[in-house]
Amino acid sequence: MYDLKITNARIVTPDRIYRGDILVRDGKIAAVGDCAEATAKETLDAAGKFAFPGMIDSHAHLNDPGYCWREDFPHGSAAAVVGGVTTIVDMPLQNEPALINAKIFADKAAALAGRSLADYAFWGGLVDDNSDDLEGMHDAGAVAFKAFIGPVSPDYSSINMGLVRKALGILKRIDALGGFHCEDYSIIKAAEKEVERRVGKNASWTDFLASRPVSAEIISTRSIIDLARETGARVHICHVSHPEVAEIIRQARCDGVQVSGETCPHYLTFTGEDVVKNGCTFKCAPPLRDAEAREKLWGYVLDGTLGCIGSDHSPCRADEKDDAVHGVFGAWGGISGIQNMMQVFYDQGINRRGHSPTLLARVSAETAKVFSLGDHKGRLEPGFDADIVLLDPEKNWEVTPESLRYVNPISAFIGLTGRGLPVLTMVRGVVVARDGQPENLYSHGKLAKRGI
Ligand SMILES: [Zn+2]
Repeated sequence: MYDLKITNARIVTPDRIYRGDILVRDGKIAAVGDCAEATAKETLDAAGKFAFPGMIDSHAHLNDPGYCWREDFPHGSAAAVVGGVTTIVDMPLQNEPALINAKIFADKAAALAGRSLADYAFWGGLVDDNSDDLEGMHDAGAVAFKAFIGPVSPDYSSINMGLVRKALGILKRIDALGGFHCEDYSIIKAAEKEVERRVGKNASWTDFLASRPVSAEIISTRSIIDLARETGARVHICHVSHPEVAEIIRQARCDGVQVSGETCPHYLTFTGEDVVKNGCTFKCAPPLRDAEAREKLWGYVLDGTLGCIGSDHSPCRADEKDDAVHGVFGAWGGISGIQNMMQVFYDQGINRRGHSPTLLARVSAETAKVFSLGDHKGRLEPGFDADIVLLDPEKNWEVTPESLRYVNPISAFIGLTGRGLPVLTMVRGVVVARDGQPENLYSHGKLAKRGI
Protein backbone atom coordinates (compact mmCIF):
# COMPACT_ATOMS: atom_id res chain seq x y z
CA MET A 1 0.00 0.00 0.00
CA TYR A 2 1.33 3.38 -1.05
CA ASP A 3 0.58 6.75 0.55
CA LEU A 4 -0.40 8.49 -2.67
CA LYS A 5 -1.06 7.68 -6.29
CA ILE A 6 -1.05 10.44 -8.90
CA THR A 7 -2.84 9.16 -12.01
CA ASN A 8 -3.13 10.30 -15.63
CA ALA A 9 -0.29 12.84 -15.39
CA ARG A 10 1.87 13.83 -18.30
CA ILE A 11 5.18 13.11 -16.58
CA VAL A 12 8.03 15.36 -17.67
CA THR A 13 11.62 14.11 -17.57
CA PRO A 14 14.77 15.76 -18.96
CA ASP A 15 14.34 13.93 -22.27
CA ARG A 16 10.72 12.86 -22.71
CA ILE A 17 7.10 13.28 -21.68
CA TYR A 18 4.86 10.28 -21.09
CA ARG A 19 1.49 9.55 -19.57
CA GLY A 20 1.63 7.55 -16.37
CA ASP A 21 1.21 7.29 -12.64
CA ILE A 22 3.45 8.35 -9.79
CA LEU A 23 3.44 6.39 -6.53
CA VAL A 24 4.63 8.01 -3.32
CA ARG A 25 5.61 6.34 -0.07
CA ASP A 26 7.27 7.91 2.98
CA GLY A 27 7.85 11.16 1.15
CA LYS A 28 9.76 9.49 -1.67
CA ILE A 29 8.79 8.57 -5.20
CA ALA A 30 8.29 4.80 -5.04
CA ALA A 31 7.47 4.11 -8.68
CA VAL A 32 6.74 5.98 -11.91
CA GLY A 33 5.05 4.72 -15.07
CA ASP A 34 2.17 2.32 -15.60
CA CYS A 35 1.12 1.45 -12.05
CA ALA A 36 -2.54 0.59 -12.75
CA GLU A 37 -2.61 -2.29 -10.24
CA ALA A 38 -1.09 -0.39 -7.33
CA THR A 39 -3.33 0.90 -4.58
CA ALA A 40 -2.77 3.89 -2.33
CA LYS A 41 -4.41 5.55 0.65
CA GLU A 42 -5.08 8.60 -1.50
CA THR A 43 -5.43 9.10 -5.24
CA LEU A 44 -4.96 12.34 -7.14
CA ASP A 45 -6.25 12.59 -10.70
CA ALA A 46 -3.82 14.75 -12.71
CA ALA A 47 -5.63 14.47 -16.05
CA GLY A 48 -4.69 17.35 -18.33
CA LYS A 49 -1.76 18.42 -16.15
CA PHE A 50 1.97 18.13 -16.53
CA ALA A 51 3.84 16.60 -13.59
CA PHE A 52 7.18 18.35 -13.20
CA PRO A 53 9.91 17.90 -10.63
CA GLY A 54 9.61 20.85 -8.25
CA MET A 55 11.92 23.67 -9.24
CA ILE A 56 15.08 24.40 -7.30
CA ASP A 57 15.71 28.13 -7.01
CA SER A 58 19.48 28.31 -7.09
CA HIS A 59 19.58 31.95 -6.05
CA ALA A 60 17.21 33.56 -3.55
CA HIS A 61 17.59 36.24 -0.87
CA LEU A 62 14.92 35.61 1.75
CA ASN A 63 16.57 37.93 4.31
CA ASP A 64 15.67 35.67 7.26
CA PRO A 65 16.99 35.90 9.93
CA GLY A 66 17.77 39.54 9.60
CA TYR A 67 15.87 41.92 7.40
CA CYS A 68 12.41 40.40 7.70
CA TRP A 69 10.77 43.69 6.81
CA ARG A 70 12.07 43.01 3.31
CA GLU A 71 11.19 39.32 3.23
CA ASP A 72 11.01 36.35 5.55
CA PHE A 73 10.84 32.60 5.18
CA PRO A 74 7.12 32.19 5.92
CA HIS A 75 6.20 34.64 3.15
CA GLY A 76 9.03 33.79 0.76
CA SER A 77 8.54 30.04 1.04
CA ALA A 78 4.76 30.39 0.64
CA ALA A 79 5.43 32.34 -2.55
CA ALA A 80 7.90 29.68 -3.64
CA VAL A 81 5.57 26.71 -3.27
CA VAL A 82 2.56 28.50 -4.74
CA GLY A 83 4.77 29.07 -7.78
CA GLY A 84 6.21 25.54 -8.02
CA VAL A 85 9.58 26.02 -6.29
CA THR A 86 10.13 23.18 -3.80
CA THR A 87 13.74 23.87 -2.79
CA ILE A 88 15.16 27.31 -2.05
CA VAL A 89 18.92 27.77 -2.14
CA ASP A 90 19.20 30.82 0.09
CA MET A 91 21.97 33.39 -0.07
CA PRO A 92 24.25 34.18 2.90
CA LEU A 93 23.97 37.97 2.72
CA GLN A 94 21.04 40.18 3.70
CA ASN A 95 21.05 38.02 6.79
CA GLU A 96 21.84 39.33 10.27
CA PRO A 97 24.50 38.20 10.77
CA ALA A 98 25.69 37.22 7.29
CA LEU A 99 26.33 33.47 7.08
CA ILE A 100 30.12 33.35 7.10
CA ASN A 101 31.00 30.51 9.48
CA ALA A 102 29.72 27.16 10.76
CA LYS A 103 28.33 28.61 13.99
CA ILE A 104 26.16 31.07 12.06
CA PHE A 105 25.14 28.22 9.72
CA ALA A 106 23.81 26.28 12.72
CA ASP A 107 22.12 29.38 14.14
CA LYS A 108 20.40 30.10 10.80
CA ALA A 109 19.22 26.50 10.51
CA ALA A 110 17.80 26.68 14.04
CA ALA A 111 16.16 30.06 13.41
CA LEU A 112 14.33 28.78 10.33
CA ALA A 113 12.85 25.69 11.96
CA GLY A 114 9.08 25.88 11.61
CA ARG A 115 9.23 28.81 9.19
CA SER A 116 9.24 27.23 5.73
CA LEU A 117 6.85 25.42 3.42
CA ALA A 118 9.64 24.55 1.00
CA ASP A 119 12.87 22.68 1.62
CA TYR A 120 15.95 24.89 1.67
CA ALA A 121 19.70 24.77 1.38
CA PHE A 122 22.21 27.47 2.26
CA TRP A 123 24.90 29.25 0.34
CA GLY A 124 27.82 29.97 2.64
CA GLY A 125 29.55 33.34 2.53
CA LEU A 126 32.95 33.82 0.94
CA VAL A 127 34.19 37.16 2.28
CA ASP A 128 37.57 38.74 2.82
CA ASP A 129 38.45 37.24 6.17
CA ASN A 130 36.85 33.81 6.38
CA SER A 131 38.94 31.41 4.33
CA ASP A 132 39.54 29.38 7.52
CA ASP A 133 35.78 28.98 7.93
CA LEU A 134 34.96 27.53 4.50
CA GLU A 135 35.59 23.91 5.40
CA GLY A 136 33.48 24.16 8.55
CA MET A 137 30.54 25.57 6.60
CA HIS A 138 31.00 22.89 3.96
CA ASP A 139 30.91 20.19 6.64
CA ALA A 140 27.80 21.79 8.12
CA GLY A 141 26.07 21.39 4.75
CA ALA A 142 26.62 24.57 2.72
CA VAL A 143 25.98 23.73 -0.94
CA ALA A 144 28.05 26.59 -2.41
CA PHE A 145 29.97 29.73 -1.44
CA LYS A 146 29.05 33.19 -2.68
CA ALA A 147 31.49 35.99 -3.37
CA PHE A 148 31.26 39.49 -4.76
CA ILE A 149 34.15 41.01 -6.62
CA GLY A 150 32.72 44.51 -6.13
CA PRO A 151 31.05 46.10 -3.11
CA VAL A 152 27.54 44.90 -2.32
CA SER A 153 26.50 45.96 1.17
CA PRO A 154 28.23 47.15 4.34
CA ASP A 155 27.70 43.82 6.13
CA TYR A 156 29.20 41.67 3.39
CA SER A 157 32.72 42.38 2.23
CA SER A 158 33.78 41.78 -1.36
CA ILE A 159 37.02 40.00 -2.24
CA ASN A 160 39.78 40.61 -4.74
CA MET A 161 41.24 38.16 -7.24
CA GLY A 162 44.04 37.16 -4.89
CA LEU A 163 41.53 36.04 -2.29
CA VAL A 164 39.41 34.33 -4.95
CA ARG A 165 42.48 32.36 -6.01
CA LYS A 166 43.27 31.40 -2.43
CA ALA A 167 39.65 30.42 -1.73
CA LEU A 168 39.39 28.34 -4.90
CA GLY A 169 42.41 26.36 -3.75
CA ILE A 170 40.50 25.50 -0.56
CA LEU A 171 37.24 24.80 -2.38
CA LYS A 172 39.06 22.48 -4.78
CA ARG A 173 40.52 20.53 -1.84
CA ILE A 174 37.14 20.05 -0.16
CA ASP A 175 35.28 19.68 -3.50
CA ALA A 176 32.97 22.65 -2.91
CA LEU A 177 31.40 25.08 -5.35
CA GLY A 178 32.33 28.78 -5.56
CA GLY A 179 29.64 31.12 -6.93
CA PHE A 180 30.36 34.63 -8.16
CA HIS A 181 28.59 37.86 -8.94
CA CYS A 182 30.63 38.79 -11.99
CA GLU A 183 30.79 42.50 -12.72
CA ASP A 184 34.08 44.41 -12.70
CA TYR A 185 33.40 47.21 -10.27
CA SER A 186 36.17 49.54 -11.46
CA ILE A 187 34.45 49.80 -14.84
CA ILE A 188 31.09 50.51 -13.24
CA LYS A 189 32.52 53.07 -10.81
CA ALA A 190 34.34 54.95 -13.56
CA ALA A 191 31.21 55.04 -15.71
CA GLU A 192 29.09 56.29 -12.79
CA LYS A 193 31.64 59.07 -12.09
CA GLU A 194 31.54 60.11 -15.73
CA VAL A 195 27.73 60.39 -15.60
CA GLU A 196 27.90 62.43 -12.40
CA ARG A 197 30.47 64.75 -13.96
CA ARG A 198 28.11 65.30 -16.90
CA VAL A 199 24.69 65.57 -15.25
CA GLY A 200 25.34 65.77 -11.52
CA LYS A 201 22.57 64.05 -9.58
CA ASN A 202 20.22 63.94 -12.58
CA ALA A 203 21.28 60.59 -13.98
CA SER A 204 18.60 58.81 -16.00
CA TRP A 205 17.79 55.11 -16.33
CA THR A 206 19.58 55.16 -19.67
CA ASP A 207 22.67 56.38 -17.78
CA PHE A 208 22.25 53.53 -15.29
CA LEU A 209 22.17 50.95 -18.08
CA ALA A 210 25.24 52.49 -19.71
CA SER A 211 27.13 52.42 -16.40
CA ARG A 212 27.03 48.61 -16.27
CA PRO A 213 28.32 47.55 -19.70
CA VAL A 214 28.57 43.95 -20.81
CA SER A 215 32.36 44.34 -20.77
CA ALA A 216 32.25 44.59 -16.95
CA GLU A 217 30.49 41.22 -16.82
CA ILE A 218 32.80 39.67 -19.43
CA ILE A 219 36.05 40.76 -17.76
CA SER A 220 34.97 39.51 -14.37
CA THR A 221 33.66 36.19 -15.72
CA ARG A 222 36.89 35.61 -17.66
CA SER A 223 38.98 36.21 -14.52
CA ILE A 224 36.95 33.75 -12.46
CA ILE A 225 37.14 31.13 -15.20
CA ASP A 226 40.90 31.63 -15.55
CA LEU A 227 41.32 30.96 -11.83
CA ALA A 228 39.02 27.93 -12.04
CA ARG A 229 41.18 26.66 -14.89
CA GLU A 230 44.31 27.12 -12.81
CA THR A 231 43.02 25.70 -9.53
CA GLY A 232 40.71 23.01 -10.91
CA ALA A 233 37.93 24.24 -8.60
CA ARG A 234 34.24 24.17 -9.47
CA VAL A 235 32.83 27.64 -10.09
CA HIS A 236 29.33 28.94 -10.76
CA ILE A 237 28.63 32.18 -12.61
CA CYS A 238 25.52 33.74 -11.07
CA HIS A 239 22.80 35.58 -12.98
CA VAL A 240 24.32 35.72 -16.48
CA SER A 241 22.58 38.53 -18.36
CA HIS A 242 24.19 38.41 -21.79
CA PRO A 243 24.97 35.83 -24.50
CA GLU A 244 28.60 37.00 -24.81
CA VAL A 245 29.13 36.03 -21.19
CA ALA A 246 27.37 32.72 -21.76
CA GLU A 247 29.60 32.04 -24.77
CA ILE A 248 32.71 32.40 -22.58
CA ILE A 249 31.23 29.88 -20.16
CA ARG A 250 30.33 27.52 -23.03
CA GLN A 251 33.86 27.58 -24.40
CA ALA A 252 35.40 27.02 -20.97
CA ARG A 253 33.10 24.04 -20.41
CA CYS A 254 34.24 22.62 -23.76
CA ASP A 255 37.82 23.03 -22.51
CA GLY A 256 37.00 21.01 -19.41
CA VAL A 257 36.84 23.88 -16.92
CA GLN A 258 34.34 23.04 -14.17
CA VAL A 259 32.07 26.04 -14.61
CA SER A 260 28.30 26.15 -14.40
CA GLY A 261 26.06 29.02 -15.46
CA GLU A 262 22.85 30.49 -14.14
CA THR A 263 20.41 32.99 -15.54
CA CYS A 264 17.14 34.42 -14.25
CA PRO A 265 13.63 34.63 -15.70
CA HIS A 266 13.85 38.43 -15.88
CA TYR A 267 16.81 38.32 -18.29
CA LEU A 268 14.82 35.87 -20.45
CA THR A 269 11.69 38.05 -20.44
CA PHE A 270 12.45 41.76 -20.16
CA THR A 271 14.85 44.23 -21.78
CA GLY A 272 16.61 47.48 -20.94
CA GLU A 273 13.68 49.32 -22.54
CA ASP A 274 11.55 48.15 -19.62
CA VAL A 275 13.99 49.84 -17.24
CA VAL A 276 13.90 53.08 -19.20
CA LYS A 277 10.10 52.99 -19.43
CA ASN A 278 9.24 51.77 -15.94
CA GLY A 279 12.22 52.70 -13.79
CA CYS A 280 13.46 51.13 -10.61
CA THR A 281 11.08 48.16 -10.44
CA PHE A 282 13.18 46.74 -13.28
CA LYS A 283 16.57 47.66 -11.78
CA CYS A 284 18.83 44.69 -11.24
CA ALA A 285 22.55 43.91 -11.52
CA PRO A 286 23.79 42.98 -14.01
CA PRO A 287 21.13 45.07 -15.76
CA LEU A 288 18.57 43.96 -18.31
CA ARG A 289 20.01 43.95 -21.84
CA ASP A 290 18.51 44.44 -25.33
CA ALA A 291 16.01 42.21 -27.14
CA GLU A 292 18.62 40.59 -29.37
CA ALA A 293 20.71 39.61 -26.34
CA ARG A 294 17.63 38.25 -24.58
CA GLU A 295 16.76 35.99 -27.52
CA LYS A 296 20.32 34.71 -27.85
CA LEU A 297 20.43 34.01 -24.11
CA TRP A 298 17.65 31.44 -24.58
CA GLY A 299 19.97 29.48 -26.86
CA TYR A 300 22.42 29.02 -23.98
CA VAL A 301 19.65 27.82 -21.68
CA LEU A 302 18.69 25.30 -24.35
CA ASP A 303 22.22 23.97 -24.89
CA GLY A 304 22.76 23.61 -21.12
CA THR A 305 25.46 26.28 -20.74
CA LEU A 306 23.09 28.19 -18.48
CA GLY A 307 21.77 25.00 -16.93
CA CYS A 308 20.54 26.60 -13.70
CA ILE A 309 17.68 29.05 -13.35
CA GLY A 310 17.53 31.19 -10.24
CA SER A 311 15.05 33.91 -9.40
CA ASP A 312 17.64 36.15 -7.71
CA HIS A 313 14.63 37.06 -5.57
CA SER A 314 15.82 40.38 -4.11
CA PRO A 315 13.02 41.94 -2.10
CA CYS A 316 12.93 45.42 -0.60
CA ARG A 317 10.54 47.95 0.87
CA ALA A 318 8.85 50.35 -1.57
CA ASP A 319 10.75 53.42 -0.33
CA GLU A 320 14.10 51.73 -1.02
CA LYS A 321 13.23 51.71 -4.72
CA ASP A 322 12.40 55.44 -4.77
CA ASP A 323 14.87 56.89 -7.27
CA ALA A 324 13.59 60.43 -6.58
CA VAL A 325 15.17 60.03 -3.13
CA HIS A 326 18.12 57.70 -3.81
CA GLY A 327 18.92 58.42 -7.47
CA VAL A 328 19.24 55.73 -10.13
CA PHE A 329 22.59 54.51 -8.77
CA GLY A 330 21.55 54.46 -5.09
CA ALA A 331 18.02 53.05 -5.37
CA TRP A 332 17.56 49.36 -4.52
CA GLY A 333 18.55 46.98 -7.28
CA GLY A 334 16.83 43.63 -7.38
CA ILE A 335 13.73 41.95 -8.71
CA SER A 336 11.43 39.77 -6.63
CA GLY A 337 10.54 36.71 -8.66
CA ILE A 338 10.54 33.47 -6.67
CA GLN A 339 6.75 33.07 -6.95
CA ASN A 340 6.55 33.58 -10.70
CA MET A 341 9.75 31.96 -11.99
CA MET A 342 8.18 28.69 -13.09
CA GLN A 343 5.10 30.11 -14.80
CA VAL A 344 7.17 32.81 -16.54
CA PHE A 345 9.83 30.35 -17.66
CA TYR A 346 7.11 27.97 -18.87
CA ASP A 347 5.12 30.60 -20.76
CA GLN A 348 8.12 32.41 -22.23
CA GLY A 349 9.99 29.23 -23.16
CA ILE A 350 7.30 26.77 -24.10
CA ASN A 351 4.32 28.83 -25.32
CA ARG A 352 6.09 31.82 -26.80
CA ARG A 353 9.29 30.26 -28.13
CA GLY A 354 8.17 26.71 -28.88
CA HIS A 355 10.59 24.78 -26.66
CA SER A 356 9.66 21.47 -25.07
CA PRO A 357 8.44 21.28 -21.46
CA THR A 358 11.35 18.87 -20.95
CA LEU A 359 13.50 22.02 -20.69
CA LEU A 360 12.10 22.67 -17.20
CA ALA A 361 12.91 19.12 -16.09
CA ARG A 362 16.44 19.49 -17.48
CA VAL A 363 16.92 22.70 -15.51
CA SER A 364 15.70 21.07 -12.28
CA ALA A 365 17.96 18.05 -12.70
CA GLU A 366 20.99 20.20 -13.56
CA THR A 367 20.41 22.68 -10.73
CA ALA A 368 20.13 19.81 -8.26
CA LYS A 369 23.36 18.34 -9.59
CA VAL A 370 25.35 21.59 -9.51
CA PHE A 371 24.25 22.27 -5.92
CA SER A 372 25.04 18.73 -4.72
CA LEU A 373 21.39 17.81 -4.23
CA GLY A 374 21.26 15.59 -7.31
CA ASP A 375 21.00 12.30 -5.42
CA HIS A 376 17.55 13.11 -4.01
CA LYS A 377 16.12 16.25 -5.63
CA GLY A 378 15.29 17.46 -9.13
CA ARG A 379 13.96 14.31 -10.82
CA LEU A 380 10.73 12.32 -10.91
CA GLU A 381 12.40 8.97 -10.40
CA PRO A 382 12.11 6.21 -7.81
CA GLY A 383 14.10 6.98 -4.67
CA PHE A 384 13.94 10.74 -5.17
CA ASP A 385 12.06 13.10 -2.85
CA ALA A 386 8.42 13.40 -3.96
CA ASP A 387 8.80 17.11 -4.79
CA ILE A 388 6.16 17.29 -7.51
CA VAL A 389 4.42 20.17 -9.25
CA LEU A 390 1.26 19.75 -11.30
CA LEU A 391 1.01 22.48 -13.91
CA ASP A 392 -2.16 23.23 -15.86
CA PRO A 393 -0.99 24.24 -19.35
CA GLU A 394 -4.35 25.82 -20.22
CA LYS A 395 -4.62 28.11 -17.23
CA ASN A 396 -4.26 31.81 -18.10
CA TRP A 397 -2.67 34.10 -15.56
CA GLU A 398 -1.82 37.70 -14.84
CA VAL A 399 0.61 38.63 -12.07
CA THR A 400 -1.11 41.06 -9.69
CA PRO A 401 0.13 42.58 -6.42
CA GLU A 402 -2.74 40.80 -4.62
CA SER A 403 -1.54 37.41 -5.88
CA LEU A 404 2.01 37.84 -4.54
CA ARG A 405 2.70 36.27 -1.15
CA TYR A 406 5.79 38.42 -0.43
CA VAL A 407 6.17 40.72 2.58
CA ASN A 408 6.49 43.50 -0.02
CA PRO A 409 4.39 42.68 -3.08
CA ILE A 410 6.62 44.59 -5.47
CA SER A 411 7.84 42.95 -8.66
CA ALA A 412 8.76 43.63 -12.25
CA PHE A 413 6.50 40.69 -13.13
CA ILE A 414 3.33 42.52 -12.01
CA GLY A 415 1.16 43.07 -15.07
CA LEU A 416 2.74 40.24 -17.03
CA THR A 417 0.28 37.75 -18.52
CA GLY A 418 0.73 34.21 -19.75
CA ARG A 419 -0.63 30.68 -19.87
CA GLY A 420 0.36 27.61 -17.87
CA LEU A 421 0.25 27.74 -14.07
CA PRO A 422 1.29 25.44 -11.21
CA VAL A 423 -1.92 24.31 -9.52
CA LEU A 424 -0.54 21.87 -6.95
CA THR A 425 2.84 21.62 -5.27
CA MET A 426 4.05 18.89 -2.97
CA VAL A 427 7.26 18.69 -0.98
CA ARG A 428 8.32 15.18 0.05
CA GLY A 429 4.85 13.85 -0.69
CA VAL A 430 2.91 16.49 1.26
CA VAL A 431 0.73 19.02 -0.57
CA VAL A 432 1.99 22.46 0.47
CA ALA A 433 0.11 24.61 -2.07
CA ARG A 434 -3.06 24.23 -4.12
CA ASP A 435 -4.59 26.65 -6.63
CA GLY A 436 -2.45 29.58 -5.59
CA GLN A 437 -3.00 29.09 -1.86
CA PRO A 438 -0.32 27.82 0.53
CA GLU A 439 -1.29 25.22 3.12
CA ASN A 440 -0.66 26.03 6.79
CA LEU A 441 2.34 23.70 7.10
CA TYR A 442 5.25 25.94 8.00
CA SER A 443 7.04 23.23 9.91
CA HIS A 444 7.21 20.96 6.87
CA GLY A 445 10.18 22.57 5.10
CA LYS A 446 13.56 21.13 6.07
CA LEU A 447 17.21 21.83 5.47
CA ALA A 448 18.15 19.77 2.42
CA LYS A 449 21.20 17.60 2.96
CA ARG A 450 24.09 17.96 0.59
CA GLY A 451 24.60 14.69 -1.27
CA ILE A 452 26.55 13.90 -4.40
ZN1 LIG B 1 21.63 37.78 -5.77
